[in-house]
Amino acid sequence: MGSGSTQRVLVTGGAGFLGSHLCERLVAEGHDVICADNFYTGSKGNIAHLRGNPRFELLRHDVTFPLYVEVDRIFNLACPASPVHYQRDPVQTTKTSVHGAINMLGLAKRVGARILQASTSEVYGDPEVHPQTEDYWGRVNPIGPRACYDEGKRCAETLFFDYHRQHRLDIKVMRIFNTYGPRMQPDDGRVVSNFIVQALKGEPITIYGDGSQTRSFCYVDDMIEGMFRLMETGPDFPGPVNVGNPGEYTMLELAELAIRLTASRSELVFMPMPPDDPRQRQPDITLARDRLGWAPTVELEAGMIRTIAYFRELLAA
Ligand code: NAD
Ligand code: UDP
Ligand code: UDP
Repeated sequence: MGSGSTQRVLVTGGAGFLGSHLCERLVAEGHDVICADNFYTGSKGNIAHLRGNPRFELLRHDVTFPLYVEVDRIFNLACPASPVHYQRDPVQTTKTSVHGAINMLGLAKRVGARILQASTSEVYGDPEVHPQTEDYWGRVNPIGPRACYDEGKRCAETLFFDYHRQHRLDIKVMRIFNTYGPRMQPDDGRVVSNFIVQALKGEPITIYGDGSQTRSFCYVDDMIEGMFRLMETGPDFPGPVNVGNPGEYTMLELAELAIRLTASRSELVFMPMPPDDPRQRQPDITLARDRLGWAPTVELEAGMIRTIAYFRELLAA
């Protein structure tokens, strides 16, 4: 999409954390963007700065219903991503992933658009293979509280590959690993925003379990770059491809980093581990390096400093 030609692009979930950064980048590169969102977890504030731009159009729309627009590219990001949010209405979460995928694939089929699915490292569940490679089939509890998200996303991947094989759709499946940065909601419930907001307010830092579980955190700008590169790969490359930062940290290490970088006096409190919480997670990004020429450029400490600056300003407002 960086090649200079103007594309008509649909971004579902465009008023969310990742979606808003994506819309911003697409508009900046001269594309015509339709942002479709039902504001379940996203907000008009996230895209307020784009509203006056003639290249940007905002549509209140729920992807579980059909959508008829004419576009060249579809980025399907609509879906709550934080466990707190996706478990609030689990039936709606699965509907969003599955019916949303069917509708967006039907749209892509009708207009001949290329379509990218924001899939997730959660398709690997609580993994026995570490780091995770794309050929690992995962270990997901199909009836647990995370299943509405994990199985919904897995089924969406199935639909993408079946439309690809059955209808020759040009698809891209991206397995996104934990991503953080400005425009996460302060009450989002995910670990980075929780720890930063707690540290800035001097409140206790909530560690679930003993804090020895690990995650690998990717800064949002790196993730959006990966998304762009994947979208512009040739039709012979549907993915799936892992995109994430392989730097792996325990939640205790993350808490200590948040405290140090905010010079906070917050103490740690230990709370029960949520059910089915994956013990470890780290992407193997060999495929992304080879096929997208992509690797993360922002280390955790640098990304945390930028994210802390964002939340500091937000909390002061
Ligand atoms: P987010 O919650 O900030 O954004 C999701 C957006 O989708 C919100 O604006 C929400 O209002 C919208 N939405 C939800 N249901 C909808 C529906 N039925 N119709 C239309 N819009 C709907 O989350 P995010 O972090 O920006 O995640 C974006 C996508 O990336 C999601 O699909 C998520 O599963 C995926 N992902 C994100 C991460 C991450 O760490 N941020 C990791 C893996 C995958
Ligand atoms: N769809 C849509 N926009 C379009 C075309 C289709 O939202 O421009 C939806 C429609 O609701 C349909 C679904 O996508 O049910 C799947 O479309 P497909 O053509 O694959 O199947 P069918 O129409 O036969 O159910
Ligand atoms: N977590 C935590 N304290 C919090 C929020 C989350 O210790 O206040 C832990 C959570 O149990 C998980 C990790 O941090 O092990 C990442 O959680 P998040 O919800 O951000 O993402 P996900 O579990 O979906 O990777």
